[in-house]
Amino acid sequence: MSKPHLRLSGVHRHYGEGERLVRVLEAADLTVESGELVALVAPSGAGKSTLLHLCGLLESPQSGEIEIVGQPTSRLGDRARTQLRRSTVGYVYQFHHLLPEFTALENVVMPQLIAGVEQKAAEARAMELLDLLGVAPRASHRPAELSGGEQQRIAIARAAANHPRVILADEPTGNLDPETSDLVFEALKDLIKNEGAAALIATHNHDLARRADRIVTLKGGLVVPHTL
Ligand code: ADP
Repeated sequence: MSKPHLRLSGVHRHYGEGERLVRVLEAADLTVESGELVALVAPSGAGKSTLLHLCGLLESPQSGEIEIVGQPTSRLGDRARTQLRRSTVGYVYQFHHLLPEFTALENVVMPQLIAGVEQKAAEARAMELLDLLGVAPRASHRPAELSGGEQQRIAIARAAANHPRVILADEPTGNLDPETSDLVFEALKDLIKNEGAAALIATHNHDLARRADRIVTLKGGLVVPHTL
């Protein structure tokens, strides 16, 4: 069996102390395999962003282990964590955060150039992703000339540009109308299956969550299976 792309075991994360102590995760476990899309559905304040930040190595747990493609991260120093995050994790936010002065293509090329990919190869990869997400005809448009759904599909292409093994998304369709949300979610799903990434997607949209491979929620500091 190959190693799961994302594995959390016994993860504790709390904030503050004394009377202000907030226990968010207590011995939480979660495994996401290659090509698997897991929806995370939980009320506001339950700890969805915390869980995503931990999976994306943006925050560290107080105890427990987070493994990315079999690599344990708890003992890594800041530089090694950042390096591992850049090479293995792609993040999609509710708001696209595309660079306004650059075209759709350039926005997807940029993270690859930063990672040391050559211009020609980066452009080819960007076009492949824009094509997969159905926005290739918009390659030379700037973000302001694109619809919300197009902008978000380009943000997904950007997150996937460097072949991340783990894709994390925080309300990726939260800003879109239902029909466009559908389109963007399906595009994201296709991408994950195509690239064999492991995906954890926080969403309030139950219709979309039902189309994930499985649904989890947060209860009593644990990540538990959920049905809607
Ligand atoms: P969600 O994304 O599900 O809305 P969060 O992960 O943002 O939930 O927050 C979970 C809990 O942790 C909340 O009670 C929140 O107030 C608390 N929390 C989150 N980040 C911090 C922080 N940096 N300092 C103190 N408390 C925090």
